[in-house]
Amino acid sequence: MKRQILAAFAAAATLSMAAEDAKYVFYFIGDGMGLGHVNATETYNRDVLRSDSPILMASFPVASQARSYSASSPITDSAAAGTALASGIKTKNSMVGMDPDTVPVSSIAVDFMKAGYAVGVGTTVQADDATPAAWYAHAANRGMKETIAPQAAESGLSFIAGGDFKLKGAGEVAFREFKDVMRKGGYEIAEGYAAFNELKRKGGKLPRKVLMYPENPSGGQVGYTIDSIPGAMTCAQITEACLQTLENVNPEKFLMMIEGGNIDWAAHSNDGGGVIKEILNFQDAINVAYQFYLRHPSETLIVVTADHDTGGMSLGRNGGAYNIAYADAQKISKDSFADWTRNWGKNTPDPTWEEMEKMLKEKLGFWTVVPVSEKETQELRKLFDETFISKKAEDEQTLYHTFNAFTAKAFSILNYHMGIGWTTTYHAGNFVPVYAIGANAGYFTGCLNNTDIPLLIKRAAGLD
Ligand SMILES: [Zn+2]
Repeated sequence: MKRQILAAFAAAATLSMAAEDAKYVFYFIGDGMGLGHVNATETYNRDVLRSDSPILMASFPVASQARSYSASSPITDSAAAGTALASGIKTKNSMVGMDPDTVPVSSIAVDFMKAGYAVGVGTTVQADDATPAAWYAHAANRGMKETIAPQAAESGLSFIAGGDFKLKGAGEVAFREFKDVMRKGGYEIAEGYAAFNELKRKGGKLPRKVLMYPENPSGGQVGYTIDSIPGAMTCAQITEACLQTLENVNPEKFLMMIEGGNIDWAAHSNDGGGVIKEILNFQDAINVAYQFYLRHPSETLIVVTADHDTGGMSLGRNGGAYNIAYADAQKISKDSFADWTRNWGKNTPDPTWEEMEKMLKEKLGFWTVVPVSEKETQELRKLFDETFISKKAEDEQTLYHTFNAFTAKAFSILNYHMGIGWTTTYHAGNFVPVYAIGANAGYFTGCLNNTDIPLLIKRAAGLD
């Protein structure tokens, strides 16, 4: 800590920020958002959007890094990392809000609420999965959905939002009971962003506790940005709804944690274009906080980090062409493409290559924009036959999705032409980025441990 304090003083001098306690804290966690992911987005921002300035988070005056290893592995999962980022303790993979000996540990939400702050959490993926759950629940395993979700009701959090719930996997009755438990805990439920705005119109004032999730979730989340689903809830809307609710509960001080959860899902699928579009969507959410910061610069702190790197994504691979602009030729996520092709293969009595060729042109820009070679075309045709005609090709299973061999090949070709490489479909043990701006942002300099971050947030607010 001493080293960090020294570094903090050095940075504070260069940041010329008043050393006031942070009254408004925005804590953003890009799930799976490694440095390679940020770098690919920066490259897209420069080469495709022709922007002269870096992406928002990378323009913050503090840019450092954090170690993400867990108590059980050099490569953390979201549960151990979520616990580290919420509570400041290292635990074993799969454990939520508990130390390695299964003793419950409280998140900094408890300290902030004791100090009178309104606190909220939101995510674009399941509200009862690891990253948000670490803020309100304790479980020896992140898969214990029946015990995790109901703990939200007693959390005291003013705002909870997610793209969906793991609990739904336990059946309709379990989810209905959960909603009853939440209502008993004082939560008003808003099914969708429009419904959230309706809550305000009804009573003139927002309720003190809000649970928000989309009416029509898309496979466990709000839906990928690249799929352009009409009316889909966005990370920025979640941030805006959280901000309005917290400001209503306590306009003097609040803390929110917002997770860009589907960055991780796109990265597990090794979907390079999907990751870039998801980080840009995450940037829109950060911009909600940044606009608030511009109105209250000396009292607001924004911290952006990641729980781990997913996929080991990098710009650079053997023979790659490095044209990041092909991210715009891609009009569909790898997950949605896999689902579409699977259903198409099942429901089409006589699947033809010509029809698939048309789809590849339309949805991935193959041959028209992306210069798919003769050799690659032959490989695609071979896998087309093996996936849809003889059906002997094996599926590829990753953490959140199953891909037929044809989809895996098509996206491998797309990644190749974009020059994007991957080392894994799981997590990588790389350092994760840390960005900060505002009140006491200088505390976040140096090579941090992920466990330092919540403790430094407390210190920045004068709570330690
Ligand atoms: Zn994660």
